[in-house]
Amino acid sequence: MSNRTFAILKPDCVRKNLIGQVLTNITDVGFKVLAMKMTRLTKDSASGFYEIHKERPFFNDLLDYMTSGPCVPLALEKDNAVEDFRKLIGATNPAEAAEGTIRKMYAKDITENIVHGSDSDENAAIEISHFFSRKELLENNGF
Ligand code: UDP
Ligand code: MG
Repeated sequence: MSNRTFAILKPDCVRKNLIGQVLTNITDVGFKVLAMKMTRLTKDSASGFYEIHKERPFFNDLLDYMTSGPCVPLALEKDNAVEDFRKLIGATNPAEAAEGTIRKMYAKDITENIVHGSDSDENAAIEISHFFSRKELLENNGF
């Protein structure tokens, strides 16, 4: 079990002016922000990030959505980070997400679902290094 996970406040979260609200939901349950930035994904970076889904029928819509505006990648720290974060955000489809979860509270549909969360320790490490340099992570460590 690792103590890190990777999240993105997706473009709909930024557009709806929910960055502060969702970050509060995240830090209220004990996650610490290890690194954070605001950036707009290119088609190339979004398709690299979601490579695993490239044969899925929703892939093109997913790329359009993820490149539609700025997003906020986050490296987060907490005991049992990956599992606890997935619990906090709820099911991919907000219609199926549990009450009180971030997707249930704020997401429009299965595509525009407000937030990304890593699904394993291995992917968390890959995703963190996709968005943050070693230097950025080291500089922020210890705060
Ligand atoms: N997605 C979609 N349609 C689907 C499944 C997923 O548009 O039927 C989008 C949605 O934004 C989701 C992302 O693709 O968050 C990645 O899908 P995944 O199955 O990995 O869901 P997650 O891990 O984000 O819950
Ligand atoms: Mg996933």
